[in-house]
Amino acid sequence: MTAPLTIALSKGRIFKETLPLLAAAGIVPADDPETSRKLILDTDQTDVKLVIIRATDVPTYVQYGAADLGIAGKDVLLEHGGEGLYEPLDLRIARCRLMVAGRPEHPPRLRRPRIATKFANTTRRYFADQGRQVEVIKLYGSMELAPLVGLADYIVDVVDTGNTLKANGLAPLEHIADISSRLIVNKAAMKMKHTRIKAIMARMAAAVGD
Ligand code: AMP
Repeated sequence: MTAPLTIALSKGRIFKETLPLLAAAGIVPADDPETSRKLILDTDQTDVKLVIIRATDVPTYVQYGAADLGIAGKDVLLEHGGEGLYEPLDLRIARCRLMVAGRPEHPPRLRRPRIATKFANTTRRYFADQGRQVEVIKLYGSMELAPLVGLADYIVDVVDTGNTLKANGLAPLEHIADISSRLIVNKAAMKMKHTRIKAIMARMAAAVGD
């Protein structure tokens, strides 16, 4: 019997957009995570399992080898830092941009600008690299609210259509990074399960058009 191969991914947009790529690699989940409460899903391949976890936890599971492979947004990977991981394939799904946003008419501040974000590490790095002094306030959601109630001057968030910003009187101001979902691989698993992982990578890459 071969050792099981575990793939970590999150529900919602990433799961839906990943399904055709998994199918191209010959992997079809036995359950729908939107309706099933199972956290470990079987697939049509007895030795391949899916673990369904929060998007921000995917790199951690793969880093520690609790999952061999994972699918995670570049925003999440930038924030995690990428230790213990390979990031061999851009799946070109769930695309958006990581942006600094704020009120377009906002006057410049004398004090250090405050930036509210759930991407605290990425935000600190972005401003520090430019030698700009800011205070980063870590939030867990609804960043758009922070400038409206005086918690922060700016936010750093992922932006797709820009409709959420606009609906809250905010505008995108600075582009930090282009975001899309990536296939990530545990470094030890890449060695130990090389043949199977390479085969999955090759079939996904062909489906993506690489
Ligand atoms: P928007 O289309 O700009 O109004 O995006 C709406 C909200 O959806 C944003 O505030 C983000 O939190 C979220 N969002 C949009 N695209 C993505 C993505 N590719 N990955 C994760 N979150 C996203």
